[in-house]
Parts: sequence; structure tokens; C-alpha cells
Amino acid sequence: MTDLTRTKLESLSLQKLDPLDLIAPNFRVYELTRSELASRAGVDNRFPGDKELQAAVNLARKVLQPLRAAFGPFTPNSVYRSQELERALKHKPKSWLSTSQHTQGCACDVEIVGKSTLELAQWAADNLPEFDQIICECFDPSEGPNSGWVHISLKLPQQGINRKQLLSYVRDAKSGKWIYVQGLRAAAQ
Ligand SMILES: [Zn+2]
Repeated sequence: MTDLTRTKLESLSLQKLDPLDLIAPNFRVYELTRSELASRAGVDNRFPGDKELQAAVNLARKVLQPLRAAFGPFTPNSVYRSQELERALKHKPKSWLSTSQHTQGCACDVEIVGKSTLELAQWAADNLPEFDQIICECFDPSEGPNSGWVHISLKLPQQGINRKQLLSYVRDAKSGKWIYVQGLRAAAQ
């Protein structure tokens, strides 16, 4: 186990990495590719290259670590997701290609026990100095304060401009379908 918390992103390489290496004060490398579904379904979810690794470490340092400092220990639901894992998760055929930022290593899904999903999304919007998108996903207060999760993405400079977009993925009352809407809000609103 090596302390890499001060190692520059561009110096990080998969070849020299141990899963237990520390990449932010409270996060280790393996947490960036860990997935319950991948383990259960036997899906390969290792980083394909250094680019995805560096994007995920950047996210750990600038998004996950500030959340840890504010709310205490937690494990992200998922950070990097391989194309194979995306297909398994979303029940898609082999020919389908995901455009999710998770496949580039620059997005995470988080939940904090005891903190309402909508409040967590709002906290992130108010306190993270930089982010591309914060999406309050599938939050429905009628199913409890912890329903859904918060998706937060952060691009590396070479991946483009961080747009600071706030969105919610809610169930449309009329059609019953899940839709994206502007701003952070609950399904019922
Ligand atoms: Zn997500």
C-alpha cells in the first residue's frame, strides 16, 4: 500500500498501482471500480487505461473527499463502469454503447445514510467548487428520504468544460415515465 494522495494525476499509471493504494485521504484505488453487480454477474470492471483511472482519481479528490469530510465515512455506489457493466446494469444488447460519463471514469453515484437524497444533491451544488453535472436521480419522498441517489460528474480539463448543470431524473406524473428536468427536485414536485 502506497500513499499516492499527493501524486499528480498525470503520474498515475495502472501498471504501478496496488488496489489498496491511497489516492485521496480517505479513498483507495479499489473503491473506484468496485461494483456489487460486477462481482455478482462476473463482469470485468477494471480500468481500461490510465485516462479513466486519472479521471476517477480526480473525481475522488474533488468530489468524494469533500463529501467524506462533510458527512463521514461512506462508500460510493459506483464510480467507473465498463461498457460491459453498463450493458448488464441497463439490460442492453452487446451492440449497445453507453455514453455515460461513468464509462470515462468521471462520474460517481452517491448516497449518504441519514441524509435526504435531495438535500445531498443541494449540498453538493452549494459546496463543490467544480462539477459538470449534479443529477438528483429517482428521488421520491414517498419512498423515504434515502430513495434514489445523487449522480455527480467532473471532467478533466482535457475532457472539456465543466458545465455546472443541475438536473433531476423524476417520474412524470402524467405519463408515469422517468424524465430529466432542470434543477434539483423531488418526483412529487
Ligand atoms: Zn450516475
